Amino acid sequence: MTSRGAAGRVRLKPSEDERIRKGHVWIYDNEISAIEGEEHASGGEKRPAPAGVAAPGPRAKEGPLDGDLVWVEDAKGRKLGTGFLNLKSAIAVRLVTRGARAGFGPAEIDGLLEGAFRRREPLDLDCVRLVNAEGDFMPGLVIDRYGDVVVIQSRIPAWDRADRAGTLIAGTRRLLAPRSVLLKTESGTMRAGASEGEYTPVLAGDEDAAVVVNEAGLEIEVDLLGGQKTGFYIDQRENRASVIPYVPGKRVLDCFSYSGVWSLMCAAGGAREVTGVDSSAAAIGLARANARRNRLDETATFVEADVFDYLPGLARAREKYDIVILDPPSLARTRKQVAGAMRGYIHLNKVAMGLLEPGGILVTCSCSHHMTRERFIEMLRHTSTLVRKRFSVVRIGGQPDDHPSLLGVPETDYLKCVSLRVE
Ligand code: SAH
Repeated sequence: MTSRGAAGRVRLKPSEDERIRKGHVWIYDNEISAIEGEEHASGGEKRPAPAGVAAPGPRAKEGPLDGDLVWVEDAKGRKLGTGFLNLKSAIAVRLVTRGARAGFGPAEIDGLLEGAFRRREPLDLDCVRLVNAEGDFMPGLVIDRYGDVVVIQSRIPAWDRADRAGTLIAGTRRLLAPRSVLLKTESGTMRAGASEGEYTPVLAGDEDAAVVVNEAGLEIEVDLLGGQKTGFYIDQRENRASVIPYVPGKRVLDCFSYSGVWSLMCAAGGAREVTGVDSSAAAIGLARANARRNRLDETATFVEADVFDYLPGLARAREKYDIVILDPPSLARTRKQVAGAMRGYIHLNKVAMGLLEPGGILVTCSCSHHMTRERFIEMLRHTSTLVRKRFSVVRIGGQPDDHPSLLGVPETDYLKCVSLRVE
Protein backbone atom coordinates (compact mmCIF):
# COMPACT_ATOMS: atom_id res chain seq x y z
CA MET A 1 0.00 0.00 0.00
CA THR A 2 1.45 3.29 -1.06
CA SER A 3 1.19 6.26 1.23
CA ARG A 4 -0.25 9.48 -0.18
CA GLY A 5 -0.07 11.54 2.97
CA ALA A 6 2.61 13.82 4.36
CA ALA A 7 4.99 12.51 7.03
CA GLY A 8 5.77 15.91 8.50
CA ARG A 9 5.85 19.62 8.02
CA VAL A 10 8.48 22.17 7.10
CA ARG A 11 7.98 25.74 8.29
CA LEU A 12 9.62 28.54 6.29
CA LYS A 13 11.22 31.66 7.73
CA PRO A 14 9.32 34.93 7.24
CA SER A 15 9.07 36.10 3.59
CA GLU A 16 10.76 32.95 2.23
CA ASP A 17 7.35 31.98 0.84
CA GLU A 18 7.42 34.80 -1.74
CA ARG A 19 9.47 32.89 -4.31
CA ILE A 20 7.24 29.84 -3.85
CA ARG A 21 4.08 31.89 -4.35
CA LYS A 22 5.55 33.14 -7.64
CA GLY A 23 5.83 29.57 -8.91
CA HIS A 24 9.16 28.27 -7.64
CA VAL A 25 9.24 24.71 -6.26
CA TRP A 26 12.59 24.58 -4.42
CA ILE A 27 13.03 25.25 -0.73
CA TYR A 28 16.67 25.78 0.28
CA ASP A 29 17.77 24.49 3.67
CA ASN A 30 18.62 27.99 4.91
CA GLU A 31 15.03 29.14 4.27
CA ILE A 32 13.60 26.70 6.81
CA SER A 33 12.87 27.62 10.43
CA ALA A 34 11.57 24.27 11.64
CA ILE A 35 10.90 20.69 10.63
CA GLU A 36 8.58 18.46 12.58
CA GLY A 37 7.04 15.01 12.25
CA GLU A 38 3.33 14.63 11.68
CA GLU A 39 1.53 13.78 14.95
CA HIS A 40 -0.35 10.86 13.52
CA ALA A 41 2.40 9.68 11.20
CA SER A 42 4.23 7.61 13.79
CA GLY A 43 1.69 7.67 16.57
CA GLY A 44 4.12 9.68 18.65
CA GLU A 45 3.74 13.07 20.23
CA LYS A 46 4.36 16.28 18.35
CA ARG A 47 8.09 16.85 18.12
CA PRO A 48 9.42 20.25 19.01
CA ALA A 49 10.89 22.33 16.24
CA PRO A 50 14.66 22.72 16.43
CA ALA A 51 15.17 26.15 17.96
CA GLY A 52 16.99 28.85 16.00
CA VAL A 53 17.99 26.66 13.10
CA ALA A 54 21.43 27.65 11.94
CA ALA A 55 24.18 26.39 9.63
CA PRO A 56 24.84 23.72 8.43
CA GLY A 57 21.06 23.50 8.07
CA PRO A 58 18.02 22.16 9.82
CA ARG A 59 17.87 18.64 11.18
CA ALA A 60 14.64 16.91 11.94
CA LYS A 61 15.09 14.91 15.12
CA GLU A 62 12.95 11.81 14.65
CA GLY A 63 11.02 13.87 12.16
CA PRO A 64 10.38 13.07 8.55
CA LEU A 65 13.08 11.23 6.62
CA ASP A 66 14.68 12.03 3.29
CA GLY A 67 12.31 10.90 0.58
CA ASP A 68 9.21 11.55 2.69
CA LEU A 69 6.41 13.80 1.50
CA VAL A 70 6.13 16.84 3.78
CA TRP A 71 3.86 19.84 4.06
CA VAL A 72 5.52 23.18 3.42
CA GLU A 73 4.07 26.09 5.38
CA ASP A 74 4.83 29.80 5.46
CA ALA A 75 6.02 31.45 8.68
CA LYS A 76 2.41 31.88 9.80
CA GLY A 77 1.56 28.22 9.26
CA ARG A 78 -0.38 28.64 6.01
CA LYS A 79 0.01 25.64 3.71
CA LEU A 80 1.94 26.27 0.49
CA GLY A 81 1.93 22.69 -0.78
CA THR A 82 3.60 19.33 -0.29
CA GLY A 83 7.05 18.31 -1.42
CA PHE A 84 9.81 15.72 -1.15
CA LEU A 85 12.32 16.13 1.66
CA ASN A 86 16.04 15.74 0.96
CA LEU A 87 18.19 17.20 3.72
CA LYS A 88 21.40 15.91 2.11
CA SER A 89 20.99 18.55 -0.56
CA ALA A 90 20.96 22.34 -0.25
CA ILE A 91 17.58 22.05 -1.99
CA ALA A 92 15.88 20.61 1.07
CA VAL A 93 12.37 20.28 -0.37
CA ARG A 94 10.99 20.08 -3.91
CA LEU A 95 7.28 20.77 -4.16
CA VAL A 96 5.01 18.34 -5.98
CA THR A 97 1.61 19.80 -5.05
CA ARG A 98 0.54 23.38 -4.41
CA GLY A 99 -1.91 24.88 -1.94
CA ALA A 100 -3.79 23.01 0.77
CA ARG A 101 -4.58 19.99 -1.41
CA ALA A 102 -3.06 16.99 0.31
CA GLY A 103 -1.78 13.77 -1.14
CA PHE A 104 0.64 12.63 -3.76
CA GLY A 105 0.43 8.92 -4.45
CA PRO A 106 0.17 6.40 -7.29
CA ALA A 107 -2.84 8.07 -8.93
CA GLU A 108 -1.05 11.43 -9.07
CA ILE A 109 2.19 9.85 -10.32
CA ASP A 110 0.28 7.92 -13.01
CA GLY A 111 -1.46 11.10 -14.13
CA LEU A 112 1.81 13.02 -14.40
CA LEU A 113 3.54 10.17 -16.21
CA GLU A 114 0.75 9.84 -18.74
CA GLY A 115 0.67 13.60 -19.35
CA ALA A 116 4.44 13.75 -19.88
CA PHE A 117 4.42 10.79 -22.31
CA ARG A 118 1.47 12.25 -24.25
CA ARG A 119 3.23 15.59 -24.64
CA ARG A 120 6.12 13.84 -26.46
CA GLU A 121 3.95 12.00 -28.95
CA PRO A 122 3.85 14.80 -31.57
CA LEU A 123 7.67 14.91 -31.56
CA ASP A 124 7.85 11.32 -32.84
CA LEU A 125 11.38 10.74 -31.59
CA ASP A 126 13.17 7.45 -31.08
CA CYS A 127 15.65 8.84 -28.59
CA VAL A 128 13.72 11.19 -26.35
CA ARG A 129 13.46 12.56 -22.82
CA LEU A 130 10.04 11.44 -21.61
CA VAL A 131 10.13 13.09 -18.20
CA ASN A 132 12.23 16.19 -17.60
CA ALA A 133 12.02 16.57 -13.84
CA GLU A 134 10.59 19.93 -12.70
CA GLY A 135 9.60 20.76 -16.29
CA ASP A 136 7.17 17.83 -16.18
CA PHE A 137 6.11 18.51 -12.57
CA MET A 138 8.14 15.54 -11.27
CA PRO A 139 11.13 17.18 -9.55
CA GLY A 140 14.34 15.18 -9.47
CA LEU A 141 13.12 12.53 -11.91
CA VAL A 142 14.38 11.88 -15.42
CA ILE A 143 13.01 9.26 -17.80
CA ASP A 144 14.70 8.76 -21.18
CA ARG A 145 13.71 6.44 -23.99
CA TYR A 146 16.33 4.88 -26.23
CA GLY A 147 14.28 2.98 -28.79
CA ASP A 148 12.63 0.14 -26.92
CA VAL A 149 14.65 0.60 -23.72
CA VAL A 150 13.46 3.08 -21.09
CA VAL A 151 15.86 4.40 -18.45
CA ILE A 152 14.49 5.87 -15.21
CA GLN A 153 16.97 7.99 -13.28
CA SER A 154 16.15 9.28 -9.85
CA ARG A 155 18.17 12.21 -8.53
CA ILE A 156 16.44 12.49 -5.14
CA PRO A 157 15.66 9.78 -2.55
CA ALA A 158 11.89 10.18 -2.99
CA TRP A 159 11.79 8.37 -6.33
CA ASP A 160 14.03 5.53 -5.07
CA ARG A 161 11.32 4.43 -2.63
CA ALA A 162 10.10 1.01 -3.68
CA ASP A 163 6.47 2.08 -3.93
CA ARG A 164 7.12 5.14 -6.12
CA ALA A 165 9.70 3.36 -8.30
CA GLY A 166 7.18 0.51 -8.70
CA THR A 167 4.49 2.96 -9.81
CA LEU A 168 6.87 4.53 -12.35
CA ILE A 169 7.89 1.15 -13.75
CA ALA A 170 4.33 -0.17 -13.98
CA GLY A 171 3.12 3.05 -15.63
CA THR A 172 5.97 3.03 -18.15
CA ARG A 173 5.22 -0.58 -19.05
CA ARG A 174 1.50 0.04 -19.37
CA LEU A 175 1.85 3.16 -21.51
CA LEU A 176 4.84 2.29 -23.71
CA ALA A 177 5.34 -1.49 -23.54
CA PRO A 178 9.15 -1.22 -23.87
CA ARG A 179 11.41 -4.27 -24.17
CA SER A 180 13.23 -3.29 -20.95
CA VAL A 181 12.85 -0.80 -18.15
CA LEU A 182 16.12 0.11 -16.43
CA LEU A 183 16.55 1.93 -13.16
CA LYS A 184 19.72 3.99 -12.93
CA THR A 185 20.79 4.90 -9.42
CA GLU A 186 24.09 6.02 -7.92
CA SER A 187 24.98 2.41 -7.21
CA GLY A 188 24.44 1.17 -10.73
CA THR A 189 21.95 0.18 -13.40
CA MET A 190 19.26 -2.43 -12.74
CA ARG A 191 16.68 -4.07 -14.94
CA ALA A 192 13.14 -4.13 -13.53
CA GLY A 193 11.74 -7.65 -13.35
CA ALA A 194 8.22 -8.87 -14.04
CA SER A 195 6.92 -8.27 -10.53
CA GLU A 196 7.18 -5.24 -8.30
CA GLY A 197 10.43 -4.87 -6.39
CA GLU A 198 12.27 -7.41 -8.55
CA TYR A 199 15.52 -6.14 -10.03
CA THR A 200 18.59 -7.70 -11.61
CA PRO A 201 21.84 -5.83 -12.16
CA VAL A 202 22.66 -5.06 -15.77
CA LEU A 203 26.21 -6.23 -16.49
CA ALA A 204 28.70 -5.50 -19.27
CA GLY A 205 27.90 -7.56 -22.33
CA ASP A 206 24.24 -7.77 -21.35
CA GLU A 207 21.80 -6.95 -24.16
CA ASP A 208 20.74 -3.84 -22.22
CA ALA A 209 24.25 -2.65 -21.36
CA ALA A 210 24.43 -0.64 -24.58
CA VAL A 211 21.88 0.45 -27.14
CA VAL A 212 22.32 2.05 -30.54
CA VAL A 213 20.32 5.18 -31.29
CA ASN A 214 19.90 7.18 -34.46
CA GLU A 215 20.63 10.89 -34.51
CA ALA A 216 20.49 12.77 -37.82
CA GLY A 217 21.23 9.55 -39.68
CA LEU A 218 24.18 8.53 -37.50
CA GLU A 219 24.27 5.32 -35.49
CA ILE A 220 25.46 6.15 -31.99
CA GLU A 221 26.18 3.58 -29.31
CA VAL A 222 24.90 4.66 -25.93
CA ASP A 223 26.59 3.10 -22.90
CA LEU A 224 23.80 2.68 -20.40
CA LEU A 225 26.11 1.27 -17.71
CA GLY A 226 29.18 3.46 -17.47
CA GLY A 227 27.72 6.26 -19.53
CA GLN A 228 27.25 9.71 -18.14
CA LYS A 229 23.72 10.94 -17.33
CA THR A 230 21.38 8.21 -18.57
CA GLY A 231 23.98 7.46 -21.26
CA PHE A 232 23.62 10.22 -23.79
CA TYR A 233 23.26 14.02 -23.94
CA ILE A 234 19.83 14.08 -25.57
CA ASP A 235 19.44 17.76 -24.66
CA GLN A 236 22.03 18.86 -27.26
CA ARG A 237 20.21 17.25 -30.22
CA GLU A 238 19.10 20.48 -31.91
CA ASN A 239 22.26 22.39 -31.09
CA ARG A 240 24.36 19.59 -32.62
CA ALA A 241 22.24 19.67 -35.79
CA SER A 242 22.58 23.45 -36.00
CA VAL A 243 26.24 23.26 -37.10
CA ILE A 244 25.62 20.97 -40.08
CA PRO A 245 25.09 23.77 -42.67
CA TYR A 246 28.46 25.31 -41.82
CA VAL A 247 30.76 22.28 -41.87
CA PRO A 248 31.40 21.27 -45.51
CA GLY A 249 35.14 21.44 -46.21
CA LYS A 250 35.91 22.83 -42.75
CA ARG A 251 38.41 22.02 -40.00
CA VAL A 252 36.57 21.39 -36.71
CA LEU A 253 37.64 21.12 -33.07
CA ASP A 254 35.04 19.50 -30.76
CA CYS A 255 35.98 20.06 -27.11
CA PHE A 256 34.37 17.84 -24.43
CA SER A 257 33.33 15.37 -27.14
CA TYR A 258 32.02 12.53 -24.90
CA SER A 259 30.78 9.74 -27.21
CA GLY A 260 31.71 11.77 -30.27
CA VAL A 261 28.28 12.51 -31.66
CA TRP A 262 28.92 16.21 -32.32
CA SER A 263 32.23 15.39 -34.05
CA LEU A 264 30.60 12.69 -36.14
CA MET A 265 27.79 14.99 -37.16
CA CYS A 266 30.41 17.41 -38.52
CA ALA A 267 32.30 14.60 -40.27
CA ALA A 268 29.09 13.23 -41.82
CA GLY A 269 28.17 16.76 -42.88
CA GLY A 270 31.33 17.02 -44.98
CA ALA A 271 33.94 18.53 -42.66
CA ARG A 272 37.51 18.10 -43.92
CA GLU A 273 39.01 17.20 -40.55
CA VAL A 274 37.48 16.82 -37.09
CA THR A 275 39.28 16.45 -33.75
CA GLY A 276 37.30 15.51 -30.65
CA VAL A 277 38.85 16.01 -27.20
CA ASP A 278 37.70 14.50 -23.90
CA SER A 279 39.49 13.63 -20.65
CA SER A 280 37.57 10.39 -20.12
CA ALA A 281 39.25 7.30 -21.56
CA ALA A 282 35.89 5.49 -21.67
CA ALA A 283 34.30 8.36 -23.60
CA ILE A 284 37.18 8.40 -26.10
CA GLY A 285 36.86 4.62 -26.57
CA LEU A 286 33.15 4.99 -27.23
CA ALA A 287 33.71 7.92 -29.62
CA ARG A 288 36.27 5.94 -31.63
CA ALA A 289 33.92 2.96 -31.82
CA ASN A 290 31.12 5.26 -32.98
CA ALA A 291 33.41 6.74 -35.65
CA ARG A 292 34.23 3.24 -36.97
CA ARG A 293 30.59 2.19 -36.85
CA ASN A 294 29.70 5.13 -39.12
CA ARG A 295 32.84 4.78 -41.30
CA LEU A 296 33.92 8.27 -40.34
CA ASP A 297 37.13 7.30 -38.55
CA GLU A 298 39.35 8.76 -41.26
CA THR A 299 37.86 12.23 -40.86
CA ALA A 300 37.08 12.21 -37.14
CA THR A 301 39.84 11.42 -34.66
CA PHE A 302 39.73 11.63 -30.88
CA VAL A 303 42.30 12.75 -28.33
CA GLU A 304 42.22 11.85 -24.64
CA ALA A 305 43.27 15.07 -22.93
CA ASP A 306 42.25 17.74 -20.47
CA VAL A 307 40.77 20.53 -22.58
CA PHE A 308 42.06 23.15 -20.14
CA ASP A 309 45.63 22.04 -21.00
CA TYR A 310 45.09 20.97 -24.58
CA LEU A 311 43.56 24.21 -25.90
CA PRO A 312 46.43 26.48 -24.79
CA GLY A 313 48.79 23.94 -26.43
CA LEU A 314 46.96 24.35 -29.73
CA ALA A 315 47.16 28.13 -29.38
CA ARG A 316 50.92 27.94 -28.76
CA ALA A 317 51.30 25.75 -31.86
CA ARG A 318 49.30 28.40 -33.79
CA GLU A 319 46.69 25.89 -34.90
CA LYS A 320 43.57 27.39 -36.49
CA TYR A 321 40.04 26.00 -36.93
CA ASP A 322 36.97 27.04 -38.87
CA ILE A 323 34.65 25.74 -36.17
CA VAL A 324 35.35 25.27 -32.47
CA ILE A 325 32.74 23.60 -30.26
CA LEU A 326 32.89 24.01 -26.47
CA ASP A 327 30.45 21.85 -24.52
CA PRO A 328 31.96 21.64 -21.02
CA PRO A 329 30.38 19.86 -18.06
CA SER A 330 28.64 22.04 -15.51
CA LEU A 331 31.55 24.10 -14.18
CA ALA A 332 29.35 25.50 -11.38
CA ARG A 333 27.48 22.78 -9.54
CA THR A 334 26.69 24.91 -6.51
CA ARG A 335 26.02 28.59 -6.02
CA LYS A 336 29.37 28.92 -4.25
CA GLN A 337 31.26 27.71 -7.31
CA VAL A 338 29.94 30.42 -9.62
CA ALA A 339 32.95 32.74 -9.32
CA GLY A 340 35.45 29.97 -10.07
CA ALA A 341 33.27 28.71 -12.88
CA MET A 342 33.16 32.16 -14.44
CA ARG A 343 36.95 32.20 -14.58
CA GLY A 344 36.87 28.76 -16.21
CA TYR A 345 34.36 29.88 -18.84
CA ILE A 346 36.35 33.02 -19.63
CA HIS A 347 39.59 31.06 -19.93
CA LEU A 348 38.09 28.40 -22.22
CA ASN A 349 36.23 30.83 -24.44
CA LYS A 350 39.16 33.21 -24.69
CA VAL A 351 41.51 30.50 -25.94
CA ALA A 352 38.83 29.08 -28.26
CA MET A 353 38.12 32.50 -29.77
CA GLY A 354 41.83 32.87 -30.50
CA LEU A 355 41.87 29.56 -32.43
CA LEU A 356 39.33 30.70 -35.02
CA GLU A 357 40.15 31.38 -38.66
CA PRO A 358 38.68 34.64 -39.99
CA GLY A 359 34.93 34.03 -40.48
CA GLY A 360 35.11 30.99 -38.21
CA ILE A 361 32.39 29.97 -35.78
CA LEU A 362 32.58 29.31 -32.05
CA VAL A 363 29.74 27.14 -30.75
CA THR A 364 29.88 27.61 -27.00
CA CYS A 365 27.64 26.00 -24.38
CA SER A 366 26.89 26.05 -20.68
CA CYS A 367 24.68 23.54 -18.90
CA SER A 368 25.00 25.08 -15.44
CA HIS A 369 21.75 26.48 -14.10
CA HIS A 370 23.72 28.97 -12.02
CA MET A 371 25.00 30.54 -15.23
CA THR A 372 21.96 32.37 -16.57
CA ARG A 373 21.58 33.12 -20.28
CA GLU A 374 22.18 36.84 -19.64
CA ARG A 375 25.27 36.14 -17.55
CA PHE A 376 26.63 33.74 -20.16
CA ILE A 377 26.20 36.24 -22.98
CA GLU A 378 27.72 39.01 -20.87
CA MET A 379 30.69 36.68 -20.18
CA LEU A 380 31.13 36.17 -23.95
CA ARG A 381 30.89 39.93 -24.55
CA HIS A 382 33.59 40.54 -21.96
CA THR A 383 35.79 37.73 -23.31
CA SER A 384 35.56 39.04 -26.88
CA THR A 385 37.08 42.32 -25.72
CA LEU A 386 40.02 40.39 -24.24
CA VAL A 387 40.84 38.88 -27.64
CA ARG A 388 40.15 42.21 -29.38
CA LYS A 389 37.89 40.69 -32.00
CA ARG A 390 34.35 41.41 -33.15
CA PHE A 391 31.79 38.62 -33.24
CA SER A 392 28.29 38.43 -34.63
CA VAL A 393 25.71 36.24 -32.91
CA VAL A 394 24.58 33.60 -35.39
CA ARG A 395 22.29 31.63 -33.10
CA ILE A 396 21.25 31.35 -29.46
CA GLY A 397 20.00 27.87 -28.66
CA GLY A 398 18.67 26.21 -25.56
CA GLN A 399 16.78 23.05 -24.67
CA PRO A 400 14.70 21.11 -27.19
CA ASP A 401 10.95 20.58 -26.79
CA ASP A 402 11.35 17.29 -24.91
CA HIS A 403 13.32 19.16 -22.20
CA PRO A 404 10.72 21.70 -21.05
CA SER A 405 11.67 24.06 -18.24
CA LEU A 406 9.28 25.45 -15.65
CA LEU A 407 8.48 29.14 -16.13
CA GLY A 408 8.42 29.69 -12.36
CA VAL A 409 11.79 27.98 -11.88
CA PRO A 410 14.37 29.85 -14.00
CA GLU A 411 17.07 27.35 -12.99
CA THR A 412 15.35 24.64 -15.06
CA ASP A 413 16.15 26.64 -18.22
CA TYR A 414 19.75 25.45 -17.86
CA LEU A 415 21.12 24.91 -21.37
CA LYS A 416 22.70 27.70 -23.38
CA CYS A 417 24.35 27.22 -26.77
CA VAL A 418 25.57 30.35 -28.52
CA SER A 419 27.11 30.37 -32.01
CA LEU A 420 29.38 33.34 -32.66
CA ARG A 421 31.04 34.18 -35.97
CA VAL A 422 34.30 36.05 -35.84
CA GLU A 423 34.84 39.00 -38.17
N1 SAH B 1 29.40 17.28 -26.27
C1 SAH B 1 28.94 16.01 -25.73
C2 SAH B 1 28.61 16.10 -24.25
C3 SAH B 1 29.72 16.65 -23.39
S1 SAH B 1 29.51 16.30 -21.72
C4 SAH B 1 27.73 15.53 -26.52
O1 SAH B 1 27.17 16.31 -27.30
O2 SAH B 1 27.35 14.38 -26.36
C5 SAH B 1 31.00 16.85 -21.03
C6 SAH B 1 32.20 15.98 -21.31
O3 SAH B 1 33.34 16.65 -20.81
C7 SAH B 1 32.22 14.61 -20.66
O4 SAH B 1 32.38 13.63 -21.65
C8 SAH B 1 33.45 14.62 -19.73
O5 SAH B 1 34.17 13.40 -19.75
C9 SAH B 1 34.28 15.69 -20.35
N2 SAH B 1 35.22 16.42 -19.48
C10 SAH B 1 35.01 16.87 -18.23
N3 SAH B 1 36.07 17.62 -17.81
C11 SAH B 1 36.95 17.63 -18.84
C12 SAH B 1 38.22 18.22 -19.05
N4 SAH B 1 38.79 18.98 -18.11
N5 SAH B 1 38.83 18.03 -20.24
C13 SAH B 1 38.27 17.28 -21.20
N6 SAH B 1 37.06 16.69 -21.06
C14 SAH B 1 36.41 16.87 -19.90
